[in-house]
Amino acid sequence: MHEMSIAQSLADLLREEMEKAGARKLRSVRLEIGRMSAIVPDALSFGFEVVTADTDLEGAELIMDIVPLRGACRECGGEFEIEDYVFECALCGGREIDMLSGQELAVKEITVD
Ligand SMILES: [Zn+2]
Repeated sequence: MHEMSIAQSLADLLREEMEKAGARKLRSVRLEIGRMSAIVPDALSFGFEVVTADTDLEGAELIMDIVPLRGACRECGGEFEIEDYVFECALCGGREIDMLSGQELAVKEITVD
């Protein structure tokens, strides 16, 4: 499961940020996760708990905002939310879709002491 390696990179990144901020304790971290990023929030949450256990990051709360999947149609230029992974234009039925959002994994904010 690749969430474990994502959790590890996340923990490394958070340590760097905390060092820069001169913080000692991480309270929470808010992530933005695209629906198409292939990340399972529960698995990431579990992975984060595992990699931070008995470390300076232990007990930090992981908050995940799921970013909906949005696409733009190449035929009519319309933008719409993609539901149920149906890659078809909601306006004209075109099948040439560019992804606008939904693949991100980003740290939005961290709360520290
Ligand atoms: Zn269209």
